[in-house]
Amino acid sequence: MKETSVQLLEGRNFDVLIVGAGANGSAAAEMLAKAGYSVLLADKSDFGSGTSSRSSRMLHCGFRSLEGAAGKTLLQHLTHLPDRLTLVKGAREALQARADFIGAMPNRVRPVTMVTPLYHGGVSGLQMDAAATLLWLLGTGGIPLDYRRLTPAKLGDLPFAEWLRQRDDLAGVVTFRDYVFDWPERVCVDQTLAAEQFGAVVCNYTTVGALHRMPDGQWSATLRDAATGTQATIETRQVLNLAGPWIDDVVGLAAPKIAQRIASSKGVQIAVELPERFRDFGLAAATDKGAFVCIPSQGLHLIGATNSKFSGDPTKATASEAEVEELLARANALLPGIDLNRRSVRYAIAGIRPGSLGAAGRVIHDHADDGLAGLVSVTGGTVAMSRQTARALLGLVKGRFQPSQSIPGVHDTVRTASVTKEEYARTIADLALRRTGEAWSANFDEKQLHAFAVMLGDRHGWDQARIEEAKAEFRAELAELYRREPTQLSPQ
Ligand SMILES: Cc1cc2nc3c(=O)[nH]c(=O)nc-3n(C[C@H](O)[C@H](O)[C@H](O)COP(=O)(O)OP(=O)(O)OC[C@H]3O[C@@H](n4cnc5c(N)ncnc54)[C@H](O)[C@@H]3O)c2cc1C
Repeated sequence: MKETSVQLLEGRNFDVLIVGAGANGSAAAEMLAKAGYSVLLADKSDFGSGTSSRSSRMLHCGFRSLEGAAGKTLLQHLTHLPDRLTLVKGAREALQARADFIGAMPNRVRPVTMVTPLYHGGVSGLQMDAAATLLWLLGTGGIPLDYRRLTPAKLGDLPFAEWLRQRDDLAGVVTFRDYVFDWPERVCVDQTLAAEQFGAVVCNYTTVGALHRMPDGQWSATLRDAATGTQATIETRQVLNLAGPWIDDVVGLAAPKIAQRIASSKGVQIAVELPERFRDFGLAAATDKGAFVCIPSQGLHLIGATNSKFSGDPTKATASEAEVEELLARANALLPGIDLNRRSVRYAIAGIRPGSLGAAGRVIHDHADDGLAGLVSVTGGTVAMSRQTARALLGLVKGRFQPSQSIPGVHDTVRTASVTKEEYARTIADLALRRTGEAWSANFDEKQLHAFAVMLGDRHGWDQARIEEAKAEFRAELAELYRREPTQLSPQ
């Protein structure tokens, strides 16, 4: 498999070091490399294996941004005008991000029809109409909203409608077009490979283990190959800390006493199989426990997400039995007709949102204010907004210095050291979760697992025992991280 050898990086100098190849790091690497900066993108694990792999996959059209304004009177709107303007700004950004993402990665997104129930005494149909008009006025970037409001008599066989609670209390349903990125890990891999095509050096399984600001303002960084422990030290003018929920840890490498920037929260989702005719339909509803979404993804539907404070190691976050039960209860309460039980759950995933401490939404932290000029971190950046975030970071770097010429020889040397395959996959998890996405499908079974193991075995020269060991490792990972029991794989 193709790999970048850490040893070959020893002593190299890059314009920009990007820590973390999630949605934000990979998008930034692509844009900076395209603009002519020499970029090193390093991830301690695989590309796209952090929080980006745990998202609800929503590229939403802005209705969610306006949720905070729903159900309020005109007087309340006027009293809280600055807050309302922030919501409108959020909606406009969501619309721009959506159009941008669809334009840049048309093959990685697909439209879904979202269904939102309206109950008497809750958000009214007129308020939803007003929100839709506002979104239309803000500009949808040429992507249709397909907004419709239906009375209960007109629901016909609209998916989800027949499952809704309290049909007598139902004032109607609105439908609109949202998009899902199916699946986010592959978005990260694509962006990483695009960055490489523009000349970036990209390394997975490579930890940035030390950061030091030198007297001349340059940064030195120590990289460590996770498998071999081999180390290399590089220099760079700019460090972009896009390490998701690990952002404070990375800042801590540079200076241990810098104030915390992250407010982490844990979100759990469960995957269930719904009838085939629901394939292109999702549901979004406001409940007393927060937003509830049911989103089609890889032939299943993801239901979630929970929202609780989190302070542990993000790598170890898994869905607890209580969280799975909570989601089942919420789904059954909102949609009695869905009739889910524990056996309906194909897998459950947990992710840690790298939220901004004391602020809503994305914040770009320039640590020059902490005496660490040349170090920038981002909190609260979503997958959907990642291209906007990357563009903002490009602007910030451009404001500091112009791209250097490409570094002669580096890429060629790295390429020569690379082995055959093009996408850096090392493990079955890399292949099944992030390069092909097959393990997310309802049909992933022992036969496919075996095929992946043999494919990797061919490249790595594994014997039968190693192939079986790799399969066992992946089964254990599925069970531990995604609560997908090996028995749920159909027999070979
Ligand atoms: C339940 C849930 C639902 C969500 N739903 C949505 C949604 O519908 N739409 C949406 O757009 N967003 C959604 N999000 C938010 C979104 O997933 C995250 O905000 C986004 O993925 C953050 O991306 P990132 O690139 O900043 O971080 P990550 O994807 O976490 O990437 C950071 C990377 O940094 C690496 N790293 C860390 N430390 C080091 C180091 N020292 N050296 C090298 N590498 C390092 C990690 O291995 C990781 O791969 C959701 C999040 C959750 C939890």
